[in-house]
Amino acid sequence: MTQVFGMEQRLGSEAMGESFSAETVWAAIRTGLRKTVGARTFDGWLKPLALIGFDHGSGEVRLSAPSSFMANWVETHFHDHLLQAWRAMVPGVRQLVVDGATDGARPLVQEFGDLEAATPPQAPPAPRVTAGESTPFEPRYTFDSFVVGKANEVAYNAARTLAEGGPLGFNPLFLHGGTGLGKTHLMHAIGQDYLARHPGTRVVYMSAEKFMFEFVAAMRAKDTFSFKQWLRSADVLMIDDVQFIAGKESTQEEFFHTMNELISAGRRLVISADRSPQDLDGIESRILSRLSWGLVADVNPADFELRLNIITKKLETMPQASVPQDVVNFLARRISSNIRELEGALNRVVAYAMLSGKPIDMDFTQATLADVLRANQRRVTIDEIQRRVCEHYRIRQAEMSSARRAREVARPRQVAMYLAKQLTPRSLPEIGRRFGGRDHTTVIHAVRQIEKLRATDAELDADVRLLMRQLEG
Ligand code: ADP
Ligand code: MG
Repeated sequence: MTQVFGMEQRLGSEAMGESFSAETVWAAIRTGLRKTVGARTFDGWLKPLALIGFDHGSGEVRLSAPSSFMANWVETHFHDHLLQAWRAMVPGVRQLVVDGATDGARPLVQEFGDLEAATPPQAPPAPRVTAGESTPFEPRYTFDSFVVGKANEVAYNAARTLAEGGPLGFNPLFLHGGTGLGKTHLMHAIGQDYLARHPGTRVVYMSAEKFMFEFVAAMRAKDTFSFKQWLRSADVLMIDDVQFIAGKESTQEEFFHTMNELISAGRRLVISADRSPQDLDGIESRILSRLSWGLVADVNPADFELRLNIITKKLETMPQASVPQDVVNFLARRISSNIRELEGALNRVVAYAMLSGKPIDMDFTQATLADVLRANQRRVTIDEIQRRVCEHYRIRQAEMSSARRAREVARPRQVAMYLAKQLTPRSLPEIGRRFGGRDHTTVIHAVRQIEKLRATDAELDADVRLLMRQLEG
């Protein structure tokens, strides 16, 4: 099979003047899939899939899964879904196959523009991970591609120290933080860096779900011994997303027991979770204290500056995409939920622009990302609205609930009710309650009144606009 990815069936060669990464299309499809199948299912089953390539002649897309078990499962449950998603982006796709073999199936990044120079790409010689069921590392997830900021510098520095391999002041390293903030990226970076510095060692990385699956399989086969031996033989063991096994008592107990043994045996251990050890369900205090001997590093949501740096860095790897600075700033400002969404949004804009042949500008970006932008809208609270309005009109916040009807407090109160209606999902009766227990008809009256005034009173209209801008951040 020729491992090239051709788009000219749809786009015509003039639209394809620039080269474009197949990974970008795949990334856009993945973002869509995550929405349609749900984050849990996606992260467990579809996220580990890697793109191997696309064969022009037969119209076949080939994906690979980390194990044949997963490949079968995905084929059974998601074949049609995946095929449709590909067809929607690339009409030339006719078939889709999911391979289970990990050997040699490294994710392939192939430029569309390279179609003439059709020599199959030489994957750089990668260190072999393990012969077992460990998940292979994502080549993109390195320390070099990880952008450091205030939100993640502690975790980053700890990860680097651990990968260097010198004596450690901490073990395990426990990384925690919300989804999409770079925990998995850091773990893959540790693995790849450690192997590069220590050839011949073994690094095992797997998700906690997979750990659980393997462990249960070993129990069924009455052979937990060799499973544990296999874990113990790793110089570095990394288990991602342990919140999945917290609360599942038998696996959890076994898991932490095994972790304990590994630490005692001097193995380096990295664990990630979406919450801190204390917040994991039902973990024995004995184990908790063991975990806290290590380093507990949190990965926080990225601030604007870090988001901007991440987009900028990412664009360096997409020289074919021309994204104006105002769009870059816009994305960094508005997609604040997590880095995965930020990357997904950028990939989507670039992929859609490519597929439609349109230039990337603000209008195009807003139209393409309408759903993501809505979901990322800041949630404004009634309390915040009242506070801002009172600051603006220099009145006490108590006036929001008071019975005074003097114009200088009644008008700001109406403005605040209006904003509460516009910017929060609260119902009219609820808003009324938060303004000193007023009736919902009072709120309706306020909303109508401000609407009318905005059309005739330029000063008031300017006040409202300013407040909206401030509140929506
Ligand atoms: P988590 O495991 O915390 O849910 P991931 O490690 O999967 O998050 O990160 C989600 C995406 O965001 C990945 O594609 C990753 O490369 C990217 N990412 C997260 N943080 C950074 C960062 N600091 N620099 C560059 N890319 C990042
Ligand atoms: Mg992760």
